[in-house]
Amino acid sequence: MSKHPQKAADFIANEARTDWHDQSLWVVREKRDKLAKGIAEWEELRELASQIKDHTLSHLDHYLEEFEKNALANGVQVHWAKDAETHNHIVHDILQKQKVRRLVKSKSMLTEECGLNPFLEKQGIEIIDTDLGERIIQLKDEPPSHIVMPAIHLKKEEIGELFHEKLQTEKGATDPQYLTEAARQHLRSHFLQADAALSGVNFAVAETGGVTVCTNEGNADMGIHLAPVQIHCMGLEKVIPRQKDLGVFTRLLARSATGQPITIYTSHHLKPKPGGEMHIVIVDNGRSEQLGREDFRNSLKCIRCGACMNTCPIYRRSGGHSYDYTVPGPIGSILTPGKDLKKYSDLPFASTLCGSCTDVCPVKIDIHQQLYKWRQIIAEEGHLPKAKAREMSMAAKVLSSPKAYRRATKWMRRLMRFLPRPLLYLNRNVWGKQRELPQVPRQTFKDWYKHEGNES
Ligand code: SF4
Repeated sequence: MSKHPQKAADFIANEARTDWHDQSLWVVREKRDKLAKGIAEWEELRELASQIKDHTLSHLDHYLEEFEKNALANGVQVHWAKDAETHNHIVHDILQKQKVRRLVKSKSMLTEECGLNPFLEKQGIEIIDTDLGERIIQLKDEPPSHIVMPAIHLKKEEIGELFHEKLQTEKGATDPQYLTEAARQHLRSHFLQADAALSGVNFAVAETGGVTVCTNEGNADMGIHLAPVQIHCMGLEKVIPRQKDLGVFTRLLARSATGQPITIYTSHHLKPKPGGEMHIVIVDNGRSEQLGREDFRNSLKCIRCGACMNTCPIYRRSGGHSYDYTVPGPIGSILTPGKDLKKYSDLPFASTLCGSCTDVCPVKIDIHQQLYKWRQIIAEEGHLPKAKAREMSMAAKVLSSPKAYRRATKWMRRLMRFLPRPLLYLNRNVWGKQRELPQVPRQTFKDWYKHEGNES
């Protein structure tokens, strides 16, 4: 069994957690639907966002250069990183030059992707995640399981226990307000002592050279305003052409992500504060390669809202950790095979291909089509498990020949009636692990029609 099915099986083993995880995410999906329906021009907005992103990706070099030119003119220091390692070294160099020992960080999936935290910790720098969900999983020493709600897999009782152990809250306390207040007090001292603050970037505006950061907790702003050095790390696909395009994306982002009309803090950072330093690190790390893959390039339109995860029946029931990558769910299953086809060849199969992800995506990425395309490539390049490849090739032969299909179903109908149950529900029958096979009818519809239908 490959990784995702095994990890999903581990997650599902706790049935109560699976139900609760599934329902919690479905609530977010419903909130998204309600808010989206509240905007008459929702579909036009999606189309516009999709076109802006398509246009930007077709002229990415131009907009990135324009962004850099304007950012430099604003007094910002711009750095380019071809991969995760370069990114981490650039951030470390900035911190070293400024003799930074304590860094506060707001949520950034890019720094997760690059493994920045463990890298800086090895260099002796204290790095504190200040987004509540991120801080929880940092204290728990776990990766995020969702790109917007990183600790969605944890229940308040588990967080209560964790805070009791790490932040000395009362034993058994589970009141969210009490726990949040404890986290607030704990983080406050880190904000005040930090020498530098780092944030991700939601949008980088080529026309102005400024970056926009959307949060609900104001933690990015608190860090950036208090620390003398501010660093913003962004994937190169975050650039958009004009300031007025922001209106399109911010309306879509919060509604799609959490069912809010807008994120509580939508902050625009244009230049360093007086006496301070502002750095922007632009990271490739495989994005140029994805841009060159015609079938998958538009996955770079993603604005990381998480809506495709909240709606995905597989994600909701298998949990984000089962994907074993920073970006889980449907969009993650498109991005990861490009990084290592062999390693992540199971992920495009973690989908029912129902298309719900495509329906909710605010930038109209054809997610399920791309998953299907990856499956074809994985099969063609021989990355399917051998048994599955054999079964698929046998099925293709049977399904492509009406004669073979009729014979096979005739024999299977007979066999399945007499085969002992343990043989039918062998370990190899993964489908049968969670389900009962249907009762086999004595005759097919065709047979019935031949004998009975003609008489009536
Ligand atoms: S693929 Fe679409 S729905 Fe999924 S996170 Fe990206 S923008 Fe949101």
